[in-house]
Amino acid sequence: MVGEPQPILIAGGGLGGLSAALALGRKGFAVRVLEQAAEFAPIGYGIQLGPNVFPMFARLGITEAVMNEATIPKNILMLDALSGEKVTHIPTGPVFRARFTFPYIIIHREDIHRVLIEACAAVPSIVMEGGASVAGFVETGDGVRVTLADGREVEGAALIGADGLRSAVRAQFVTEGEPVPIGYVAHRTIFPMEELPARIPYRDEVVLWGGPGFHIVHYPLRHGTLFNVVAVLRTATFAERLDAQTYTAEVRRTYADAHPVMKTLTDMMALDRRWIIADRDPIRHWGRGRVTLLGDAAHPVVQSFAQGACMAIEDGVVLAESVAQADGDFAEAFARYAKARLLRTARLGLESRAIWSFYHAAGIARDVRNDTCARWTEDDVFRCLAWLYDGVELPEP
Ligand SMILES: Cc1cc2nc3c(=O)[nH]c(=O)nc-3n(C[C@H](O)[C@H](O)[C@H](O)COP(=O)(O)OP(=O)(O)OC[C@H]3O[C@@H](n4cnc5c(N)ncnc54)[C@H](O)[C@@H]3O)c2cc1C
Repeated sequence: MVGEPQPILIAGGGLGGLSAALALGRKGFAVRVLEQAAEFAPIGYGIQLGPNVFPMFARLGITEAVMNEATIPKNILMLDALSGEKVTHIPTGPVFRARFTFPYIIIHREDIHRVLIEACAAVPSIVMEGGASVAGFVETGDGVRVTLADGREVEGAALIGADGLRSAVRAQFVTEGEPVPIGYVAHRTIFPMEELPARIPYRDEVVLWGGPGFHIVHYPLRHGTLFNVVAVLRTATFAERLDAQTYTAEVRRTYADAHPVMKTLTDMMALDRRWIIADRDPIRHWGRGRVTLLGDAAHPVVQSFAQGACMAIEDGVVLAESVAQADGDFAEAFARYAKARLLRTARLGLESRAIWSFYHAAGIARDVRNDTCARWTEDDVFRCLAWLYDGVELPEP
């Protein structure tokens, strides 16, 4: 319709894309989210979220809805996967709140995705469209024309590529090929808590058992009724799609010397599906003109800090603030946004790789890690995490 402003197009309705949509929609912008999946159906397993996302939730107006679904762990523990001894911990109680103001939470990804879907649905200027797989785009001078995989074309004022690790939007201006696998895969399972054998300790904590070439992370979900387990291992077959029997044999072999708790957990897991662990080197330019990237499309990281989704949510809110300040100049808004986000997200990517080695230390490196960590105080740990958990500054609302 003549005179009606073109919507801002967002490719991808994951946590990052919907955060951007909601942040923009709440500022009155027309937004059209193009999601490849037929329906905006919540997906996924457990997810940890640091205190840095809470100011974002406040901007998005979803703090209460998120907290209704969230669990606050008693502690974050790192244990040695061979001996079971404590390596280090992050206290998540009052000392943590005193230092970082906001809590550390664990939540079912379906629940936070649903909170975002419902919040977006309540904003009249946001349209969410399923079955819309973005294949490419052209800039048209005063806008962007997106082509969908089924041949349809969609016009918008600008395009935000929030289409994840294998972003089609990114592929159009960065010619680097596939994400870089690091030789590890992850298996994920959620059990009812009541099925957990009595010998499994630490049901109220986030626990990471770090071993040579493997680790397990587990934590409770949905107010302690579910138990989320992620088992990660290094394998030469990381790039291959194999059958459940072969995956199971690999897991059993890898965890042969692990602590009995880890063996019990891997015995209970459904091992028919696995995720390849991959990231990309940081890039300086996240788009051009009226097109930019966000979340995993811009800066995928390995999940050492459990912060990939947190960064995607931060991106969405910071991006909306930048657009609101630019008075219709999307190129200026997107350039300012990418500049504001580059070093923080690149640091996360680079430190995540370093911490990955720390989790998986073997031999003398493992002894050094355990000895060094035994000397850390809570203050030392908080200081290491402050750059991340202290979050980002936002303009006054
Ligand atoms: C094992 C594991 C554990 C993790 N744990 C944590 C954690 O505890 N805490 C944390 O913060 N992060 C965690 N992460 C990282 C987190 O999952 C990601 O960083 C986060 O989901 C990125 O969000 P996103 O919106 O950028 O991308 P995605 O969640 O990947 O969403 C992309 C969306 O785009 C859609 N899409 C893709 N291509 C197209 C297309 N061409 N057109 C239209 N739509 C398209 C997809 O269907 C999807 O809906 C973990 C990751 C892994 C692998």
